Amino acid sequence: MPIVAPTSIPPARHYIGGLFEDSESGATLDVINPATEAITARAARGDARDVERAVRAARESFEDGAWSRGRPSFRREVLFRVADLIERRSDEIVTVQVAEMGEPVGPPSDGPDFYVARSAQNFRFFAEEQELVGNQSFNRDDTLVTYTMLDPVGVYALITPWNGPLMLSTWKMAPCLAYGNSAVHKPSELAPLSMPILCEIFEEAGLPAGVYNVVHGFGAEAGGALVEHPDVCGISFTGSPATARDISQRVASSLKRTSFELGGKSANIIFADADLDRAVPEAAAAIFGTSGQSCVAGSRILVQQPIYDEFLERFEAEAATWKAGDPFDPGTRLGPLVSKGQYDRVMDYLDLARKEGRILFGGDRPDDLGTGYFIAPTAVVDVENDARICQEEIFGPVAAVMPFDDADHALRLANDSVYGLAGYIWTGSQQTAHDVAHRLETAMIWINSGFSRDLRQPFGGMKGSGHGREGGGYSREFYTETRFASFPLTPRRRH
Ligand code: NAD
Repeated sequence: MPIVAPTSIPPARHYIGGLFEDSESGATLDVINPATEAITARAARGDARDVERAVRAARESFEDGAWSRGRPSFRREVLFRVADLIERRSDEIVTVQVAEMGEPVGPPSDGPDFYVARSAQNFRFFAEEQELVGNQSFNRDDTLVTYTMLDPVGVYALITPWNGPLMLSTWKMAPCLAYGNSAVHKPSELAPLSMPILCEIFEEAGLPAGVYNVVHGFGAEAGGALVEHPDVCGISFTGSPATARDISQRVASSLKRTSFELGGKSANIIFADADLDRAVPEAAAAIFGTSGQSCVAGSRILVQQPIYDEFLERFEAEAATWKAGDPFDPGTRLGPLVSKGQYDRVMDYLDLARKEGRILFGGDRPDDLGTGYFIAPTAVVDVENDARICQEEIFGPVAAVMPFDDADHALRLANDSVYGLAGYIWTGSQQTAHDVAHRLETAMIWINSGFSRDLRQPFGGMKGSGHGREGGGYSREFYTETRFASFPLTPRRRH
């Protein structure tokens, strides 16, 4: 069944102690459809009073123990039901997400939408992981036996951005809940509309009330109150470095655990011996996908000198296939930017790009569109790596393309960045790939491949791209307390 534009979307209310609620103040905020620029729905605008109620509900559920001390097999059953229900309601989820953030629906598929399917997979993965993981035991000289215990920690604050609203949120909530914690989630004010569906799913799947709570609202007002709450033991945040710095300051004296997944200015390094038939479309997808609003966007494309001109020619031809238009049209590849604020910000960077370099193609709105915060796929050339457009995260479909001589030169350019999130290497030489991967200062590297995710990967950033890792055992460490108990033994007699 084709996914069609919604005629009306119900408001996103807070979800506290298993009930949908309005803000205590009664305030709401508008959620704008970035393709039509019209209000598509409203969301509750929470503040410290709503956060207080949500954290209390979460804390009570944690102490009650139905979930936190529940059997791992019980938690697995509930979270598997969550995954099944997410897939069953895939079209609904896609519909509201497209309406709120403009990501194109893409061609029709037989199964659930790819990103929704991955959200479901996050729950299945961690539901199984928490059941299968074992404790360790150590025996010192037959005189002391120690065994480890993994316990949930308490109430976590989960704060998420608007790009991939459900998928990015489930990377956090799946391990957080699977390991028995309770959570208060503050989704982005720009893309809150899939959360009511998820809350209904949790309820239907049998998650005890209060284990998962949502407070909608603006960053400092709702998110700030949440991170500061004394009953919040840890904060998992995905968003901008500026917000991460603000959160750090707010919680500096409390010693709460934090995991920060932040932005990037990732280099896509293309050597002369690369397979351009693959590298060119992947380089385009890495910067034009989600209109460049991806933390792992390959926003600096470094191309070895002998193939520089050929790359630019093929890259421009590839960019022309990124047709902008109605995100509900299955033929559309390029959606709008998420908001007027984001559109203006990217337009300012394009003005700067004209001074710092030369716009090879794009650089403005696509001609044929009436409404919407659209910006055409853009390449900037003749620019130095120390230019602001090469150093700052633009978060739009704008690539800076620079030539390099050899691997040392490529690495100097790539590593000259405050960020350290992702890197892409395209080469026919395994040795080159291996050498460059080791010297590239980013936490995630894809070789001869675009972005792909194995849920065991240590997903996260280094340098200004954050700290902490999400995925498999890395998430387990963040969302559990590892303790031990020791007892003495009388040594066995040895014969
Ligand atoms: P943002 O930092 O503005 O907002 C992220 C979330 O934090 C939102 O829910 C917002 O309401 C909340 N927030 C804002 N101020 C707050 C405060 N003072 N206290 C507590 N919460 C607050 O980021 P954004 O514009 O929504 O997202 C874009 C950024 O996210 C980019 O920098 C992008 O690279 C990054 N990002 C990183 C990853 C990753 O996995 N590394 C993934 C997606 C996006």
